[in-house]
Amino acid sequence: MNQESEKKLVFLTSRVHPGESPASFVCQGVIDFLVSQHPVAQILRDHVIFKIVPMLNPDGVYLGNYRCSLMGFDLNRHWQDPSPWAHPTLHAVKQLIVQMNQDPRVTLEFYIDVHAHSTMLNGFMYGNVFEDEERVQRQAVFPRLLCQNAPDFSFSNTSFNRDVVKAGTGRRFLGGLLDDTSYCYTLEVSFYSYMPSGSSAPVPYTEDTYMRLGTNVARTFLDYYKLNNLTKDNIPTPIQKYSSEPMSPMGNTNGKGEGSTDREREKTFKH
Ligand SMILES: [Zn+2]
Repeated sequence: MNQESEKKLVFLTSRVHPGESPASFVCQGVIDFLVSQHPVAQILRDHVIFKIVPMLNPDGVYLGNYRCSLMGFDLNRHWQDPSPWAHPTLHAVKQLIVQMNQDPRVTLEFYIDVHAHSTMLNGFMYGNVFEDEERVQRQAVFPRLLCQNAPDFSFSNTSFNRDVVKAGTGRRFLGGLLDDTSYCYTLEVSFYSYMPSGSSAPVPYTEDTYMRLGTNVARTFLDYYKLNNLTKDNIPTPIQKYSSEPMSPMGNTNGKGEGSTDREREKTFKH
């Protein structure tokens, strides 16, 4: 095995639902951080390949649609069999993911699809359900690490499901396609607010705080890979929390105020 065969690959997509504009700011935060001179970003670039599709539904965005493409399709229900004619962006991205998954030089380890949620607070994730308990635990590692890094990310809002209605989503379909060392998530961020830890007052999101969530997602990959011994370089210590604004005193959220009511509401809501 040569050095290339060790390369991990992270695949990120966003804006499959054109009305979910916060997803674009989160994605922008990821990109801005990864191309920056921050030492964490430099280490990540040395070890991990990031493939990012910032807008899966450009025609829907152009038209100002809320959920569908130009032709009226909810693209996040067509991952199983996208048509090159009816769902061209999805077809092309799926082809690329399948191709990367077969490439012996890379290991496609993460797929994350970014959305915005119209009823829940905070950032949170959806993951898949597996029979294998060890795999379930491994899947929870990334959201747990993200929860430590992002004051607006809630692990308690994060849930794992296998609803029939979501079978055609990127997360569900790719979860079945990729091997059992891969992780597929939907990353959701509230359209409205997040609840900081220890506070009972929701803080409205801004473009900057959406982008900060993206930054925190990106730097969490280093925490993950350090945990998994991928990076043996001299990692600068301590790795400073990367933030362009004074957010550090807030700590992480515990999703306070997010009880079963929101969880019930989630069941009725699509992503
Ligand atoms: Zn969505």
